[in-house]
Amino acid sequence: MGTHPGRRSILSRAADLVWPPRSLLSDRIVDRPGVVEADLWAQLAFLGQPCCATCGFPFETAVEDGSLCGACAGEPPPYASARAAVAYDDLSRKLVLDLKRGGRRDGLPVFAGWMARAGAHALAEADVIVPTPLHWTRLAARRFNQSAWLALAVGQAAGRPVLVDGLVRRKAGRSQGGLTGGQRRRNVQGAFAVPSGARKRLAARIVVLIDDVFTTGATAEACVRTLLRAKAAKVHVLTLARVVRPVDVSI
Ligand SMILES: [Zn+2]
Repeated sequence: MGTHPGRRSILSRAADLVWPPRSLLSDRIVDRPGVVEADLWAQLAFLGQPCCATCGFPFETAVEDGSLCGACAGEPPPYASARAAVAYDDLSRKLVLDLKRGGRRDGLPVFAGWMARAGAHALAEADVIVPTPLHWTRLAARRFNQSAWLALAVGQAAGRPVLVDGLVRRKAGRSQGGLTGGQRRRNVQGAFAVPSGARKRLAARIVVLIDDVFTTGATAEACVRTLLRAKAAKVHVLTLARVVRPVDVSI
């Protein structure tokens, strides 16, 4: 016998009130929901300056404001800037997977605070926030879009409106996991669209696109191009985590 979805959500909400809150990074019980113990918090790799002014890739040494990494200097990406709160590593992976696969929401206000700080320059000029969409089949299977949750939380933290359906995913595509950069790019080509009802709210507007993880940037770039084709003035990308690979210096 299947669990009735309505009944289940009522039960899990009741459980939130009865069970003590757990740390976002361990099983330890904490004094309030959505917190991380000081020792683990210190181990999270928060991203900040110095970094590439466009893609946010961290630099090891101090640079002049506005400096670009080699990749952005060679071929500027379609987005105005990309920033992430933390580097994607063993520790932050738990935050992402609990959110994405587990549907755990108690960390959202904390993540939104981190993201609002990392993307402060973008949010300061943003007219609207748009989440990276899931294809409806995946949304139906999972019943939530973690990027939409993050977008709503960031919108609340930054006092900016969120257009949850600003983008739709019309091609299911396969999961991006395990694909190379080129494969990822092909996989998301033509995958996104701006629904006609959202066009008016995006035209000539500065948009902040939200996602959980920035990996190769293929998904973000496909979404950004779609928003620009719909006449958005400028698009920034803001994610909770970002894969930071060593720079390939070979020519
Ligand atoms: Zn760059």
